[in-house]
Amino acid sequence: MAVLVTGGAGYIGSHTVVALHESGRRVVVVDDFSNSSPAAVDALQRLVGGSLVFAPVDVTDPDAVDRLFVDHDIDAVIHFAAFKAVAESTEQPLRYYRNNLDATVTVTEAMVAHGVRRMVFSSSATVYGEPERVPVDETFPTGATNPYGWTKFVGEQILRDASAAHGLDVVLLRYFNPVGAHPSGEIGEDPAGIPNNLVPYVMQVAVGRLDHLRVFGGDYDTHDGTAIRDYIHVVDLAEGHVAALDALDAGLTGCEVVNLGTGVGSTVLEVVEAAGRAVGHAIPYEIVDRRPGDVERIWADVRRAESVLGWRATRGLDEMLADHWRWQRTHPQGYATPAPVA
Ligand code: UDP
Repeated sequence: MAVLVTGGAGYIGSHTVVALHESGRRVVVVDDFSNSSPAAVDALQRLVGGSLVFAPVDVTDPDAVDRLFVDHDIDAVIHFAAFKAVAESTEQPLRYYRNNLDATVTVTEAMVAHGVRRMVFSSSATVYGEPERVPVDETFPTGATNPYGWTKFVGEQILRDASAAHGLDVVLLRYFNPVGAHPSGEIGEDPAGIPNNLVPYVMQVAVGRLDHLRVFGGDYDTHDGTAIRDYIHVVDLAEGHVAALDALDAGLTGCEVVNLGTGVGSTVLEVVEAAGRAVGHAIPYEIVDRRPGDVERIWADVRRAESVLGWRATRGLDEMLADHWRWQRTHPQGYATPAPVA
């Protein structure tokens, strides 16, 4: 039996593929490379001894998805494949709704048609918006402030309904802010264009691709004036997916929603300082206006992850930045970096 990983060449997907392999599972990876690189699959094959089955499939294509279930003995699905850029989603909402919702419906329909019951879904803490208090637990009200966020909100609802109607067993994982990379430095985050997210931006400043960081907002009601997020090591996050599959294998039924965070909040400036320690010199920055739509503070209540999945994050901010830096230092142009001459 194998786990189908959609979007398995992406940042979180690729790290989850390694964690699944380490748990002894067979993995079938699909990706259409719309926002990822074939070099990520090559790197994955090196990390897992060539054991992956890979198919270049767009999961909005029902015939191609159906063939995956016919050709491979799939008993669970981890569904990552989605567009994820917040600002782009505001400019191209229909493209986001079409792609992200179509992918979720298509994959879920194929599961129902082929009697595959277990699904882990990639959701986001963005569904909490600006919370009334912190930490946020899974019972807090949800919504969205941009089309990307709505595709996660509606994706969750699609799976809740499909679980109730078709007996699927689903874990909806709400990610906080993933950073870091596999300690091998072989796989990591490789955003197209200028990064939107904090740590990829900081790391591109560190390798000289960008001049300096712009810190969005220095007048928040926090101890240093910058906004607070719950940064989680991507390997911890990947292991959370394995824990979710383990829980489903052990008999978890219905549709569960679980936060994947550390329970610890850090400010932007604390991240910038940790990056400076990892890189070995201070990261230049200037404080500019707040970014529209940003929340002031959010971090996770992690008790449900511990009780339902038996999982908790173990890696701290310094390890996240050290591992992210190892990847970026050895791959200054991401997966497009030429291999070093021996
Ligand atoms: N941030 C920043 N400069 C950047 C990118 C992000 O100051 O170039 C801040 C952003 O305002 C937020 C935090 O870093 O407070 C995390 O931003 P990110 O986009 O990584 O995650 P999200 O806002 O989606 O949680």
